[in-house]
Amino acid sequence: MGSFLNVVASRTVEERPWWGGERSRCDSCGRELTALELIPIVSWFALSGGCRSCGAKIPLRYLLVEVGGATIGSLIAWRWGVSVTSAFAAVVAAGLFLNALTDLYSGFVYDLFAWGLGAAGMIMRIGGGWSALLDGLLGAGLGFAVIAVIILVSRGGMGWGDASLMAGTGAALGWQLIAWGLYSGFMIGGVIALGLLLFRRVRRKDAIPLGPFLAVGGIVSMLTGTWFYSFLGMSVSWPWG
Ligand SMILES: [Zn+2]
Repeated sequence: MGSFLNVVASRTVEERPWWGGERSRCDSCGRELTALELIPIVSWFALSGGCRSCGAKIPLRYLLVEVGGATIGSLIAWRWGVSVTSAFAAVVAAGLFLNALTDLYSGFVYDLFAWGLGAAGMIMRIGGGWSALLDGLLGAGLGFAVIAVIILVSRGGMGWGDASLMAGTGAALGWQLIAWGLYSGFMIGGVIALGLLLFRRVRRKDAIPLGPFLAVGGIVSMLTGTWFYSFLGMSVSWPWG
């Protein structure tokens, strides 16, 4: 899934079609890649991170994205096994992963993917009945409202794409997990931004895209939310509880 979502994200950003016979090629020499060269993670190591024909380096991000996808998938399987919750979580994680990648590659959140995540979340919530649907609406409202307030107060610190992304994420996660997800995302983003400042990889006025951190916060919240709320003495609603 990580490898596939990477292709979808890259082709979206480059405005190329996702499907329709286009084969994967070396970014440098354009040679069509064989099936053996497209095995996630394994191929990167087997090829020593370079193209067999032209020797151009295969960007490390391919490996990182594949390892990231495998890690998230493994955590979901470990957390919920074969269950409705796992299926729900896998769809939500895939949506968040895709939004994080397009934001990293282009600096933009694509509304299509943000709203698509929300729509998928609401459709899956039908299985949990009215209370689950209401939870999705509250989550979408909360996610959107928090970012909207920040945009209005900071006058341009964040984009409306981030508000779309958090509305979609909230619809999928519900109000409790989006609250914990926003908190986690801001904390992770803050710590990493501080690190980048300390190591002088960015300057104080540089913009760092927040979308990927919010997406990671959503995934962290999904995996840890029930523990966090049970620590507070609260239970979390369908499908996470
Ligand atoms: Zn090549």
